[in-house]
Amino acid sequence: MASGCEQKVVLITGCSSGIGLRIAVLLARDEQKRYHVIATMRDLKKKDRLVEAAGDAYGKTLTLLPLDVCSDDSVRQCIDSVKDRHIDVLINNAGVGLLGPVESISMDEMKKVFETNFFGTVRMIKEVMPDMKKRRAGHIIVMSSVMGLQGVVFNDVYTASKFAIEGFCESMAVQLLKFNVKLSMIEPGPVHTEFETKMMQEVAKMEYPGADADTVRYFKDVYIPSSIDIFEALGQTPEDIAKCTKKVIE
Ligand code: NDP
Repeated sequence: MASGCEQKVVLITGCSSGIGLRIAVLLARDEQKRYHVIATMRDLKKKDRLVEAAGDAYGKTLTLLPLDVCSDDSVRQCIDSVKDRHIDVLINNAGVGLLGPVESISMDEMKKVFETNFFGTVRMIKEVMPDMKKRRAGHIIVMSSVMGLQGVVFNDVYTASKFAIEGFCESMAVQLLKFNVKLSMIEPGPVHTEFETKMMQEVAKMEYPGADADTVRYFKDVYIPSSIDIFEALGQTPEDIAKCTKKVIE
């Protein structure tokens, strides 16, 4: 550890893949060992990629805990189990996407997106906030999206969930500042991860009952191919977003 420097405890949600995994690895492998990373994921059976990427940081500057942001019990147990360490930085990264004509999406699917992207983040903030306020220190980061600022066709519900969390955080940030607790939003554009790849591959094969033929044709023949082009031409990497996140907490 850098001499005279306290190690910051950073808890990150959704570290099984993509951006969360990359942030966890980048911080845990910091040359000056400024961070102790508590990398969380809802299914620890998925830990191998993270453990491999973390290398010798695993078990030293990176520890692993189970955490499902959709479960009150899981969130409480996770925060209780790190109570003696005080969380300096919370990175709310866990999220799910949802793409397609809205007529063909069930209410349960829509609720899952809000339960994860909105309530999952709120649940985490609510749990860590009291200790941060008491200590008058801390930084909460929320992984939003450009879709939290601008609506995008066929991403109606995902966009709405990110708008919702933007609104919540804008309000919270003002209250938290009075307690010297910072709240920052990161709003990535397209990022090449399995999040995007999985979703595009799945949606291209699916049927869209309930949606009219013209909408489905536009979605499959125009929207999906042009989105793939955009991801390929403009997409950032999870590593790019991890570097940006590290800058935000430095
Ligand atoms: P990934 O699908 O690669 O990662 C999402 C992570 O969230 C996974 O680890 C997943 O775990 C986890 N997760 C999902 N639901 C839960 C839950 N209930 N509890 C705990 N963890 C959960 O996608 P990305 O890395 O791209 O996404 C990370 C964040 O970045 C998301 O918030 C997303 O909205 C945002 N973002 C992504 C962009 C992109 O183009 N990819 C662009 C802008 C923002 P599991 O493996 O168990 O499913």
